[in-house]
Amino acid sequence: MPTINNHFLKLAAGYLFPEIGRRVDEFTKANPDTAAKVIKMGIGDVTEPLTEACVVAMHKAVDDMSKRESFHGYGPNEGYPWLREAIVQHDYQSRGCDISADEIFISDASKCDCANILDILGHDNTIAVTDPVYPVYVDTNVMAGNTGGAEEAGRYGGLVYLPVTAENSFTPQLPTTKVDVIYLCYPNNPTGSVATKQTLKKWVDYAKENGSLILFDAAYEAYVTEPGIPRSIYEIQGAREVAIEFRSFSKNAGFTGTRCAFAVVPKGLTGKVADGTDIELHKLWSRRQSTKFNGVSYIVQRGAEAVYSEAGQQQIAGLVSFYLENARIIREALQGAGMTVFGGVNAPYVWVKTPAGQSSWEFFDTLLNDAHIVGTPGSGFGASGESYFRISAFNSRENVEEAMQRIGAVLAV
Ligand SMILES: *Cc1c(COP(=O)(O)O)cnc(C)c1O
Repeated sequence: MPTINNHFLKLAAGYLFPEIGRRVDEFTKANPDTAAKVIKMGIGDVTEPLTEACVVAMHKAVDDMSKRESFHGYGPNEGYPWLREAIVQHDYQSRGCDISADEIFISDASKCDCANILDILGHDNTIAVTDPVYPVYVDTNVMAGNTGGAEEAGRYGGLVYLPVTAENSFTPQLPTTKVDVIYLCYPNNPTGSVATKQTLKKWVDYAKENGSLILFDAAYEAYVTEPGIPRSIYEIQGAREVAIEFRSFSKNAGFTGTRCAFAVVPKGLTGKVADGTDIELHKLWSRRQSTKFNGVSYIVQRGAEAVYSEAGQQQIAGLVSFYLENARIIREALQGAGMTVFGGVNAPYVWVKTPAGQSSWEFFDTLLNDAHIVGTPGSGFGASGESYFRISAFNSRENVEEAMQRIGAVLAV
């Protein structure tokens, strides 16, 4: 029998979404009459279909694949040049960010990129995450053996947790000690908060001073609506010397089931070799991808390219504003019901403070049992998420309106 990666046994997590599922199952079994009425506002998955520009491009790409002259086998590991060029032009150069096409690595998902990046980093780094946080950053470090065991409240030994709560306006304090790697996600999942230019500049300055690497997850950049809020960390001068950025077509173009994303690994960004010399992370990531990854489907990359066409840009803006309108409806309904709400302006998530004295899970049970609404307990994203609750705007308008009516009725009692 083979031995296993024992670090997996440290994972206290895996508990959040399975536990939600368990409670929903239990409820629907006990209440078969109301089972059909349960509205899920928990998981961060999109609900609206792909836009026309993407669909047309992918249909055409399937036709390309059907003819010898335009058939494509393995593509470049790092993605087709036409997609990398489109990304650089629209997402970076047009915003004054100094990023070039050979620094873009197309992938099948940001979740994988966030996880796989650990392949090229050592196991002796001090790693900081916000609390609450997107669980992928933490769990992949646990699996890689970069942490100790889980402590009470689910925190892992060896990680530096930076609390983000209403008390600090969801802006983490800079670590008081030197950390080597920092995960930042803006607009933020789960809190829906954003970082200003000044905030990001503080992080870039910190990283420069301490030789740290920032892993910047910008999966929700398309949701930025307020002027002046950066959509990329490279809008901050000097960021290309300290940051890798992860981007995805999942939330802006509805590609959660289609799968396409990219990582930006600037040249000149370096890590330390054991002998004290520096080595380019770009070189290592390129090597990693060429060994462990064979690229994203031609059809899907054509779909992603269409996001950058004129029609594509208009249509995805429509998608994003549809979800943001849902977020507005949720925000206003909950505020009207007397709740304290955050987020939902530059992000598809509304982060609410639970009613007085209720824990995240207690509020989860109240909403499930009395309103038949499923949300996500804030404590599932980290100890500092306790007494908060996440409601996702990814849903049909009909469900959002119905859900807000029901929650309003329950909270009015
Ligand atoms: C949805 C999401 C992503 C994107 O994930 P994909 O694997 O590209 O679908 C990345 N980061 C965060 C925080 C997310 O919520």
